[in-house]
Amino acid sequence: AGLDRHTRELTDKRSKVLGESYRLFYRKPVHLVKGQGQYLWDAAGDKYLDVYNNVASIGHCHPAVINAVNEQMHQLNTHTRYLHERILDYSEDILSTMPTAIDRAMYMCTGSEANDLAMRVARSYSSGTGIIVTQEAYHGTSALTSGASPALGTGQTLDATTRLLPSPDHYRLSDVDLGHWFAQQMQAQIDDMAAHGIKFAGFLADSIFSSDGVLPGTAGFMQEAIDVVHQNGGIFIADEVQPGFARTGEAFWGFARHALVPDIVTVGKPMGNGIPVSGLFAKSDVLASFSDHIPYFNTFGGNPVAMAAAQAVLTVIRDENLQEHSLTVGRKLLTELQTLMDKHECVGDVRGAGLFIGFELVKDRASKEADQQLALDVIERLREKHVLTSVAGPYGNVLKLRPPLAFQEQDIDWLVGALDESLTELTA
Ligand code: PMP
Repeated sequence: AGLDRHTRELTDKRSKVLGESYRLFYRKPVHLVKGQGQYLWDAAGDKYLDVYNNVASIGHCHPAVINAVNEQMHQLNTHTRYLHERILDYSEDILSTMPTAIDRAMYMCTGSEANDLAMRVARSYSSGTGIIVTQEAYHGTSALTSGASPALGTGQTLDATTRLLPSPDHYRLSDVDLGHWFAQQMQAQIDDMAAHGIKFAGFLADSIFSSDGVLPGTAGFMQEAIDVVHQNGGIFIADEVQPGFARTGEAFWGFARHALVPDIVTVGKPMGNGIPVSGLFAKSDVLASFSDHIPYFNTFGGNPVAMAAAQAVLTVIRDENLQEHSLTVGRKLLTELQTLMDKHECVGDVRGAGLFIGFELVKDRASKEADQQLALDVIERLREKHVLTSVAGPYGNVLKLRPPLAFQEQDIDWLVGALDESLTELTA
């Protein structure tokens, strides 16, 4: 109802030809045809502000990526069984952004494949099977990673060796020493594994806890828990699909924001600004436990075109000072969003790091009871005002504000204004 003819044709065709696991955003779906920087246009020519996409991280259709891909595509695209400079040059460059202990690179096409391999490596290194993830984590589409992705809901059976760590929800856990509490929770899960005859292999986590509701926490709070992981013979896999590539502004990597040295780092989404490319970076001794015995070949992973895109992204992040930009614009945006708390009782908490902000809606500030319905209604209202974003967290009541890093100070008014109006309209 209320859809124009063309939209209806497309949605009808989708439901006829596509697998039914696909989900569209919005009651009134958006049909996008063009992107540039932080903006998108639909088929009717209407302009939207993208406040959600971390794939087009340096901006939709960035010319540096288009040119790099175009040039390499004209030259050659092949796989990693031939010599090529691009994969080596990129590896040296990306490894130089990480702790020196992380000195090996491998490439795939999706974050899921990176995490899948990381889990296999964790298992060979530890000779255990048990993987700990957070309560609402999402780590991928493969059998291994979906078995460690509670965010997929009750229809997805978790692996018997998966254990869930409560989310470090610092909004609701305001009275505890978060770092200490998190470490205790970690030990409890490792102990539970042991009680069930499962040997601990590692902890896989996104250090901004995006699907747990965007929980940046105080920089450094994770250290004590990671110490527990290591004391128990496990490894720490930093899933940087969300917080990586300058997103948090405070550091280039999410783990670096917490001053951690992971054993394995997995990356995806923003790495190629839309070209499918992902990576796994590891300490050589950890990786050797796997790669000394098992060959790895990923047909498309690390191909010259993918590497050209990845190199262009890294260069642009540096040349355009996007980390500093994310920090300064992110702080301004956070401050503006926090002023909405003075006006709207339903805003329980506004938190973030750089251009990654969680905006939490509650029924009551004292009880902190989540207001999922309001969050869903706000998302729909924002869409009417041509601002695109979505929700996160176990209760689905946290607006996830994560625009391309091309987001500018002058975009703040559009976003904050639309949010202010939406809340007024819905709660009046
Ligand atoms: N890890 C995290 C934290 C993610 O957010 C995602 C994707 N949403 C993935 C892994 C999986 O990445 P991909 O969809 O590229 O397989």
